[in-house]
Amino acid sequence: MSPSHPLLPHCRARARLVSLVIVALLVAGPVAHTGAAQDATPAPGASPAAGAGISSEPWGEVDGEQVSLFTLSNANGMEVKITNYGGIITSVVVPDRDGNLENVTLGFTTLDEYVEGHPYFGPITGRYANRIARGTFAIGDEKFYLALNNGPNTLHGGEKGFDKYVWAAEEVSGDGEVGVKLSRVSPDMEEGYPGNLDVEVTYTLTDNDEIRIDYHATTDEPTHVNLTNHAYWNLAGEGSGSIDGHELTLMASNYTPVDADLIPTGEIAPVAGTPFDFTTPHPIGERVREDFEQLVLGRGYDHNCVLDRQSPDDTTLIVAARVVEPESGRALEISTTEPGIQFYSGNFLDATEVGGAGMMYRQGDGFALETQHYPNSPNQPEFPSTLLEPDEEFNSTTTYAFSVS
Ligand code: BGC
Repeated sequence: MSPSHPLLPHCRARARLVSLVIVALLVAGPVAHTGAAQDATPAPGASPAAGAGISSEPWGEVDGEQVSLFTLSNANGMEVKITNYGGIITSVVVPDRDGNLENVTLGFTTLDEYVEGHPYFGPITGRYANRIARGTFAIGDEKFYLALNNGPNTLHGGEKGFDKYVWAAEEVSGDGEVGVKLSRVSPDMEEGYPGNLDVEVTYTLTDNDEIRIDYHATTDEPTHVNLTNHAYWNLAGEGSGSIDGHELTLMASNYTPVDADLIPTGEIAPVAGTPFDFTTPHPIGERVREDFEQLVLGRGYDHNCVLDRQSPDDTTLIVAARVVEPESGRALEISTTEPGIQFYSGNFLDATEVGGAGMMYRQGDGFALETQHYPNSPNQPEFPSTLLEPDEEFNSTTTYAFSVS
């Protein structure tokens, strides 16, 4: 968490202001187009238009390894910054309906702030995203014991999850898209997980104003894998306050209720008639304070939603969630090949973090929608399996499409 030195936030705020001005100047050039972003979408197969591209800059060092910050931009002036430290998305700048650009993801402008610790602002979370009860599971007759970092449980991979490593990075590009491919080998027994896991995560920005994340992994021993990205969003602009007014739709008729440690009980419960029913659009804040047991346990929404799929083994890319921020008109549509999505309403944000805009983040100032397999699947045989065998490949894709309405 952030240090408690009273002067530091002000110094940080000044540094951030300077960075913001620089970012604004940098993006001001190519962003001649400020109307509906989709208008400028080139024909399929066309090359990136002027303004689209990728650049990188040195961003410091962690554990003796060089860290870079990559800037991806597209033909419409959308700009995404990603660092190979933890695969963190540090900034996503998109226009509102009047063309005003804002960064809509929570995070910082310096590497040090990320290294000091934070509640997973934008990184790859793994080897197992979300919780594993008591940090243990069995594969066959063998029991494995993971690092515990969330009370008695393991959260987001353990003490040093994928979010805290420097990944190898390679710039990639295709027709109408640019990206960064990150890779690392997570060695056998890292944080207690068996098998050497070879992981690749590719972030791509397309000229359709879409961020696509492709995950790929292979192992040399049976292990459990669940990978996601943990970006927090505030479509009015990070640092602009509560996300209560964001209108959310979730393509999920069921969810997985939790116990007091936020571990799924194993039940798959219908959302109908509960504050978890987002099958039609509802403002996030409309029912979040209701005295409903599952909301009390989560201090708000912090639950895995079961996506409506044709069959349990269906892995087609389907729309999972839509979010609209009515004031700015910014909209985000998330599609995934995963069976679930963790809807987290930023309940544990507690004003200890000051974001890029120089404002502290309070409870509910950002939300996360983490596409994933269900939490604690290794201990829940009824849930879709997260077991990866040596002769298999883990492949998963999630897209984040931005537009205005
Ligand atoms: C979890 C929350 C946790 C947050 C940040 C979410 O995926 O479900 O309980 O506080 O990540 O770690």
